[in-house]
Amino acid sequence: MEFLISDLEREPIEFDLQLQPGAVNFGEEAEQKGPLATSGRAEVIHEHRGPKEVVADIRLKGRYAGAFQLPCARCLEPVEVPLSAEFDLIFRPIGVDADGPERSISASETEIGYYQKDSLLLEDVLREQVLLSLPVRTLCKPDCKGLCPRCGANRNTQPCSCDQGLVDPRWEALTGLRSRIKS
Ligand SMILES: [Zn+2]
Ligand SMILES: [Zn+2]
Repeated sequence: MEFLISDLEREPIEFDLQLQPGAVNFGEEAEQKGPLATSGRAEVIHEHRGPKEVVADIRLKGRYAGAFQLPCARCLEPVEVPLSAEFDLIFRPIGVDADGPERSISASETEIGYYQKDSLLLEDVLREQVLLSLPVRTLCKPDCKGLCPRCGANRNTQPCSCDQGLVDPRWEALTGLRSRIKS
């Protein structure tokens, strides 16, 4: 969905959509499972920077919710993760801040993005918001055993024999204890 500045100048636009997988390209990092629900409102905010300069910012306020599949950080198996969040963002015309260090909005600099030409794509905003909200480390289960560093087997499902012959130091201690009890 594209918000045109010319439309927003007339009136704010409300949206309530179900985006099917593929509508937003999340790249390799996350795969969307099922529809992504999103709703909210876009409007123009006129930023008066001087007696003559008026900048038309787009304020986009809304929320999204959907299920995503992410790779487990240890074994790479897909893990389904529900993600939802609210956002309240300001987009300025690209280039407007290029000449001059002064900025009238500085409190929450991270909330400010830029739009190209005369429109803002909701899909672009959602991609960025979802990717920013991805958990740093996703695990399929807290005690995931991960992949064998030697043969690459998933140690949760196929125990490999790479460790054979290597005695676990904990057992070694126990063996020593046992022989001492016997003697
Ligand atoms: Zn795992
Ligand atoms: Zn192995």
